[in-house]
Amino acid sequence: MTTLSTRLQSVHRHIHHACRAAGRDVRSVHLLAVSKTQPADAIREAHAAGQQMFGENYVQEALDKINTLADLRPKIEWHLIGPLQANKTRVVAEAFDWVHSVDRLKIAERLSDQRPSHLPPLSICLQVNISAEISKSGLSPDNVRPLAHEIARLPRLRLRGLMAIPEPAATLATQREPHRALHSLFEQLRADGIDLDTLSMGMSADMEAAILEGATMVRVGTAIFGARS
Ligand SMILES: *Cc1c(COP(=O)(O)O)cnc(C)c1O
Repeated sequence: MTTLSTRLQSVHRHIHHACRAAGRDVRSVHLLAVSKTQPADAIREAHAAGQQMFGENYVQEALDKINTLADLRPKIEWHLIGPLQANKTRVVAEAFDWVHSVDRLKIAERLSDQRPSHLPPLSICLQVNISAEISKSGLSPDNVRPLAHEIARLPRLRLRGLMAIPEPAATLATQREPHRALHSLFEQLRADGIDLDTLSMGMSADMEAAILEGATMVRVGTAIFGARS
């Protein structure tokens, strides 16, 4: 039987291997465990096995788990990686540490206004529609720079970087292309003087390609928790 802890170790080995192939320090890649649809007990088990950062997609489901696992704060960090609507920004600003899915100024302004003053600034990534899929959320690459400059000025947010969910691709070479494009946008923003440290890209199926192209945070669900029902 494969336990959660064994799968987590194997993901760490995978990351290690990709870092070695890329000539990168393994400490430059953070693992975000994507726990959407998983019960609070599975998160507790992953935490007991050493995992500290968790990503959730659905606000209400996440709030229930954050509440259930309140005893693990502040050791656990909560990241929202799913779409965020304006009517949910207040609870998100209050309960999460990071939001990876910001793609509109209005959402960013609300998060900044609503971030409680006793908490550190909310960490933000801009979600970029890097594969130009019409159905997916995210900014078009052309709109990233102007929005990044506006969001970098908001007082209660800390703009950390960019996030993308590239279209699935079959080979390592084709998987690398969109990740390379996101990295290049990221470097443009840094050249503009915006102080970014996070490239959130790579999931169970393409984490190696993402790490080869400079990912600093991979978001991994299935490879840690098993298939979602
Ligand atoms: C579900 C999800 C993941 C993790 O996907 P896996 O294929 O299970 O690793 C990563 N990022 C986002 C935005 C997701 O919604």
